[in-house]
Amino acid sequence: MDWDVAVIGAGAAGILAATRAAELGKRTVLLEKNRRPGVKILISGGARCNLTHDCDARGIMEAFSENGRWLRDALRDLGPREVVKLIEDEGVPTQVEDRGKIFPVSGKSQDILGALVRRMNRSGATLECGRPLAGLERSADGFALRTAAGDVTASKVIVTTGGRSYAAVGTTGDAYPWAERLGHRIIPTRPALTPITSAEPWVTALAGLTLTDVEGRIFDPAAKPPIVARRRGPFLFTHFGMSGPVPMDLSRFVSGHAHPETLVLELDLLPDTPAQDLDAWLVGEAALGGKRLVATILADRVARRVADVVIDRARVPADRRAAELSRAERTAVVTHLKRLPLRLSGTLGYDKAEVTAGGVALDEIDPRTCGSRLVPGLFFAGEVLDLDGWIGGYNFQAAFSTGWLAGTKA
Ligand SMILES: Cc1cc2nc3c(=O)[nH]c(=O)nc-3n(C[C@H](O)[C@H](O)[C@H](O)COP(=O)(O)OP(=O)(O)OC[C@H]3O[C@@H](n4cnc5c(N)ncnc54)[C@H](O)[C@@H]3O)c2cc1C
Repeated sequence: MDWDVAVIGAGAAGILAATRAAELGKRTVLLEKNRRPGVKILISGGARCNLTHDCDARGIMEAFSENGRWLRDALRDLGPREVVKLIEDEGVPTQVEDRGKIFPVSGKSQDILGALVRRMNRSGATLECGRPLAGLERSADGFALRTAAGDVTASKVIVTTGGRSYAAVGTTGDAYPWAERLGHRIIPTRPALTPITSAEPWVTALAGLTLTDVEGRIFDPAAKPPIVARRRGPFLFTHFGMSGPVPMDLSRFVSGHAHPETLVLELDLLPDTPAQDLDAWLVGEAALGGKRLVATILADRVARRVADVVIDRARVPADRRAAELSRAERTAVVTHLKRLPLRLSGTLGYDKAEVTAGGVALDEIDPRTCGSRLVPGLFFAGEVLDLDGWIGGYNFQAAFSTGWLAGTKA
């Protein structure tokens, strides 16, 4: 065997997997397709790298919905606090920013990559860039790894090739067929953390407008119950539809749906205010004289352009004044403030997706080791697994934690 451990793909998961394996004394090679490691780290978080989230292990698990619990063991060894320590120990201070996102103080993703590579270089792992793996097969006592520059043999293999989003940077889903050939099930992949599209003209007319705190709910008329997902936070209207944390987090439900055009996104524009309080507020405004336009009153609480949309969608004339508002019209206005419906058409797909949902099925991977339950000596870590979390540093955290665990156990 050329190597004790071969790691395939030098992203967040692969760099830590190789580092950890080498630090534990294993002869380790890290094969990377690109000419340099960690390209996604460099482009992440607007080139600032939101490396993890200011929360405990439970907070990270929650961000991965139904699959989050699978991460429990990986997070025990290397949770968010340990990731921050690992980076800071390399001389790169970090800070917590809005809503718990953690970034380097320098605001430079290259500092995070530099910290990871420094630690890896000290570990003794060998990095071979510009060496894409073309195939992975079992051999009598380990694995044969096919590359254009010749085969490599290793006793153990850790697959950390990522997903298939942002394919231009090297993540083209190469490992799924290898995993399938070795007997693994692949949960169908789909883009996640990608902008959502809508054909509604009023949506695109609001392009450029940011709502700082709304709740978005995906309404699927064919599902029981029909609300299939909800997220709260910032929301951005764009010329194609919507972006920002709420739409990005909800996109996995849209891209995974056979008929996304049947889905509606309901926006609660004032999530802290119950409908009856809004109703009482409008009644009070009418009692105060009622000469103000309804749209002007709404603009006290929501952006004026949104207030105009609410009035229009509620079928209330634009020149309606508070005192003239009928009870039915008032109810319609309140309903549209709490459940502004927005018909969806799809997503911007893998080209703009920050992560890939689906991947190597978790029930065939031991969460205590990240090792295959089917093929001894084979490990998977990072986004190649059926794991996709919310925006906010959760995805790097999962890649770091699983990479570390796989490197420990391989
Ligand atoms: C634009 C953008 C911004 C993002 N911002 C953030 C953020 O701020 N915070 C956050 O938590 N997450 C962010 N993400 C998501 C995050 O980048 C991923 O979740 C994370 O990179 C997954 O790590 P990984 O190691 O599993 O895979 P990757 O980082 O994708 O690494 C996989 C590596 O494998 C290599 N590879 C693929 N095929 C082969 C092959 N055949 N042979 C050899 N090597 C191969 C690839 O070249 C790549 O280097 C962002 C993603 C994008 C696209």
